[in-house]
Amino acid sequence: MNRLITISSRGDILPEYQETPIGHLLEYHNLNRQFGSYANAELLIGMCMDNRKHLHMPDNFAYIIRTGGANLRYSEFKVSYAIAVGGVRCIALIGHTQCGMVNLIARKEQFIQGLVKGAGWQPQAAEDHFFHFAPMFEIGNEVDFILSEVKRLRLRYPGIVVAPLLYRVEDNRLYLIRENTLT
Ligand SMILES: [Zn+2]
Repeated sequence: MNRLITISSRGDILPEYQETPIGHLLEYHNLNRQFGSYANAELLIGMCMDNRKHLHMPDNFAYIIRTGGANLRYSEFKVSYAIAVGGVRCIALIGHTQCGMVNLIARKEQFIQGLVKGAGWQPQAAEDHFFHFAPMFEIGNEVDFILSEVKRLRLRYPGIVVAPLLYRVEDNRLYLIRENTLT
């Protein structure tokens, strides 16, 4: 976990994010910064659909797209919309610990049985469904996935500041993910 940057004071926020909406998000959530008032969103947050996370931030401050694993590969139109029409210029991509999109194959039987028993699916249809979509939504490792997805978003939207963050469900705090500056 030494790839995480603990944010316990404003000085811990990397200089490139200080006094940006990304830095403000970190201050609101971790440092109890007094809420500003916003007429328009300044930030797009991509985060997992997982129920264990709640962000402490003001109303109107951010658009939020929630997907399994904070994977925005299949939400591109919504990202483009938030930028083009919503006017945001920063994206905070927030992964989290204990993410269910890691090692999906371990939950294959649970997934199939859950659809059969809970939703009335036929076993074969449930299994086909799993194998069709699991490779698209598997993220491998939370931190590595967020870093690769941040790189992809920066290439796709060169004018936008994109930052990799992690939410630890163990302490409900946000961390910046350290990027390898050698690559
Ligand atoms: Zn998750």
